[in-house]
Amino acid sequence: MDIEFVRSRFIKHFDGQTGHVYASPGRINLIGEHTDYNGGFVFPGAVDKGIMAEMRPNGTESTIRAYSIDLKDRVDFDFHDGVGPRASWARYIYGMALEMEKLGVPVKGFNIAFAGDVPLGAGMSSSAAMESCFGCGLNDLFGENKVSKWDIVLAGQATEHNYCGVNCGIMDQFASVFGKAGKLMRLDCRSREFEYFPFNPEGYKLVLINSCVKHELAGSPYNDRRNSCENVVRHIAAKHPEGKFETLRDCTWEQLEEVRAEVGEEDYTRAHFVLGEKDRVLAVCDALVAGDYETVGKKMYETHYGLSKEYDVSCEELDFLNDIAKECGVTGSRIMGGGFGGCTINLVKDELYESFVKTACQKYFEKFNRAAKVYDVVISDGSRKLC
Ligand code: ADP
Ligand code: MG
Repeated sequence: MDIEFVRSRFIKHFDGQTGHVYASPGRINLIGEHTDYNGGFVFPGAVDKGIMAEMRPNGTESTIRAYSIDLKDRVDFDFHDGVGPRASWARYIYGMALEMEKLGVPVKGFNIAFAGDVPLGAGMSSSAAMESCFGCGLNDLFGENKVSKWDIVLAGQATEHNYCGVNCGIMDQFASVFGKAGKLMRLDCRSREFEYFPFNPEGYKLVLINSCVKHELAGSPYNDRRNSCENVVRHIAAKHPEGKFETLRDCTWEQLEEVRAEVGEEDYTRAHFVLGEKDRVLAVCDALVAGDYETVGKKMYETHYGLSKEYDVSCEELDFLNDIAKECGVTGSRIMGGGFGGCTINLVKDELYESFVKTACQKYFEKFNRAAKVYDVVISDGSRKLC
């Protein structure tokens, strides 16, 4: 995406003047799945795909004139009218204006045009990229950049909750705001502490393969699994009244074994995945510090196995893509995201890249009569002002 493209549209659709340009990325998560609500770790990084917006105060008290370049859609609204715009893309702008105002930024009316290259629904969080981009812009235009990065993260999350009906965690917004080129971030979902780890896989590429399926399952598989985890914690807590057990993060392998018979195999196996995933994230951190990408890859395969066989959130398509990766000698491969569809994330040696991508796409199409999509990603910088 380039500035000149966004700028030309901003000039064309408004009054010919230029403003300032901001950019924010989407994200991947290398490892650490279904750990957030269990008080564990996630391990995201920002990618080289994102949202770019040009913004300029327009002299009004509270009129926002917004243009979506990709959708060729223009919406003007008053962000103080208590209702906001109907268009779903414009609600992210509406939400961020109100949430930044709550943080003390004297937001006034502005013009905005924006575009993006985060594929929608691929699990790279285009919505968080929008929120952090607009937050970065509003902080700069109206707030003298006084709002902290963490508050922008929380404003993005609040926007999803309050104006878009999505009850998300904080990983996506966190990764978009705090991302750095060549660094992944281990975020402790319980304490919100985080640490950067080097990710410079020389001789390897990171590539996502989108299965382009999203299975809607009967019932609520997500809540079922949450309930299983909470049930195991309750049983462990009952056995250990001396301790403090809030999530599986507080539980040990031994304690899990103690309650195995009472909680039943299904809950036990699900909790087993969560404990394993916590250990795998920590093992990946050590491996990255040592520059040992073979171990990183091995842990990714282990996570896939756990998501598929223990947590039971895979599907035929994702298991198929994982098997092909194995057959092609790919270093690491796993489901990225909550499961039941979406992408696999793959760590591939440069020399295997072409043949893997070609084989995966070909075989996937033969088997499912559906085209997979391929996205190369490079770990890149978070939200920033471009000019
Ligand atoms: P994701 O997993 O990519 O975050 P979401 O459903 O949370 O998926 O957010 C996608 C929504 O964000 C779209 O429906 C649209 O409203 C908005 N969006 C994302 N990218 C763009 C874009 N480039 N232009 C306009 N709207 C966008
Ligand atoms: Mg989203």
